[in-house]
Amino acid sequence: MRAVTFRSVRDVVVDQVADPVLATPFDAIVQVELAAICGSDLHPYLGREVGLDAGTVLGHEFLGVVVATGSGVAKFRAGDRVVAPFSTSCGACWFCAHGLTARCTAGQLFGWVQQGRGLHGGQAERVRVPLADTTLVAVPRGVPAEEALLAGDVLSTGFFCAQLGEVRPGAVVVVVGAGPVGICAAIAAGHAGAKSVFSLDLLPERLALARRYGALAWRADDPELRSALLDATQGRGADVVLECVGSAAATRIAFELARPGATIAAAGVHCEPQFAFSPGEAYDKNLTYRAGRCPARAMMESTLPLVVQQRYQLGALFSHRLPLDEARRGYELFERRLDGCTKVLLEVCGG
Ligand SMILES: [Zn+2]
Ligand SMILES: [Zn+2]
Repeated sequence: MRAVTFRSVRDVVVDQVADPVLATPFDAIVQVELAAICGSDLHPYLGREVGLDAGTVLGHEFLGVVVATGSGVAKFRAGDRVVAPFSTSCGACWFCAHGLTARCTAGQLFGWVQQGRGLHGGQAERVRVPLADTTLVAVPRGVPAEEALLAGDVLSTGFFCAQLGEVRPGAVVVVVGAGPVGICAAIAAGHAGAKSVFSLDLLPERLALARRYGALAWRADDPELRSALLDATQGRGADVVLECVGSAAATRIAFELARPGATIAAAGVHCEPQFAFSPGEAYDKNLTYRAGRCPARAMMESTLPLVVQQRYQLGALFSHRLPLDEARRGYELFERRLDGCTKVLLEVCGG
């Protein structure tokens, strides 16, 4: 089959690789219709995360049709349309039982193979899904496939971030970053009843998207931003800051704009070794800081219904739709933010 494989930094190719096979009775094989390129695919692509084996099939955002199941799979059969969260989960361990499916003791991330161990990804014609019964989610008929795909990661991550931030009705919320996760976090803040949502970025196409989804779009370096936020909060600052970038600079902006007693919720993948504020600064602001990988499988119970109900037209998050064979160009466009690229959808098998 054809698959997007990692060769080395900034070098991904569409290659011919072996078809995945059922490796345990609890596996399913999914024929992929649509796959997406995610901001976190750029971490190994740019060498910010290292260790990925050459030849790893990339991608953890995909939707498709089940074509084979092991004898232990009870909930799905060939022909079912499904979407996967970005990692597998067993549904039975302590973490799964407590809704923290991202920390499942048996969980694996799609698209990460290191020293021969791990799981190939979904930017391919077919993908093996372990723990299929408790990982996959059925996609109801009539749901736009590209929007259902988003429930597997960015939509759920945005809603999880707002949940971590405990956004309450009437809150004034700042979202740092207006990439796909930041946009979904802004949508989630509005969904939770926020009075106003300030969406911060530096790229005009992202700010336009934020505006389209009802946020107050601001350049993060606009000298007027701070006074506008203070005007909206009787001089206090943001009740909640949703940090959707994952950098020291973004954390520092979040800290500066948070009011005393605020919560900063971080959904960005952080790689830096220390906080961008000191324990003393956190103390002086009575700050709550919450972070972590989204338990996407658990979140999909509430986010996929939003897609089914068509509450938010999420298709606009995709700026580019390319055939699988053009994935290499997709990575280049996305990484260099060329041509107004906000997110790339790869059309695989009849997608
Ligand atoms: Zn993703
Ligand atoms: Zn588990």
